[in-house]
Amino acid sequence: MARYGMLINTKKCVGCYACRVACQMINGLDSDKAFIHYEELETGTYPSVYAENVPVQCMHCENAPCASVCPTHATYTTDSGVVLVEEEKCIGCKYCMAACPYGVRVQLHSGVVEKCRFCWYEGEPGNPPACVGTCITGARVFGDLDDPNSEINQAIARYHAQPLADNLTASKIYYVR
Ligand code: SF4
Ligand code: SF4
Ligand code: SF4
Repeated sequence: MARYGMLINTKKCVGCYACRVACQMINGLDSDKAFIHYEELETGTYPSVYAENVPVQCMHCENAPCASVCPTHATYTTDSGVVLVEEEKCIGCKYCMAACPYGVRVQLHSGVVEKCRFCWYEGEPGNPPACVGTCITGARVFGDLDDPNSEINQAIARYHAQPLADNLTASKIYYVR
């Protein structure tokens, strides 16, 4: 069984927003709703400090706080580690929004609280997900974290990629910074 994850190379990201727009289109989101937002973070130590634009989306946490607090079990984790929302079960209580440390849950106009789904459709993730396929600089890599020969594992090793925020929730998104 695969265990899916993504690498985002912020050194290649030019902040063009193409991933965000592609995600909105594939997920049928209105222009005021998005599963990707951008955070300006600082790296380095004085005087070599610089700001970087970091795309942030659902981390598909291994220990997902949003799933633990969901009273209807609308939020769940698939066997391949992808955190999804069963829209029919979501009552719009927003507990998941409060529990998510990354602020990536979005209440849609339907009332359902959604987020990045790794472009999940009919039991499979996107091949590739829309944000990966559209990225003009190849800043995003998607694949199987359990396959030692996968492109994503090779990229994680090559760049020493790490999850954000000390990996408190066992994130499956790795960043090159
Ligand atoms: Fe849930 Fe937030 Fe983790 Fe995504 S990043 S699995 S929404 S807690
Ligand atoms: Fe679960 Fe929906 Fe409530 Fe989120 S808003 S905790 S997905 S029922
Ligand atoms: Fe959006 Fe799909 Fe990329 Fe997730 S994987 S951010 S749902 S385009």
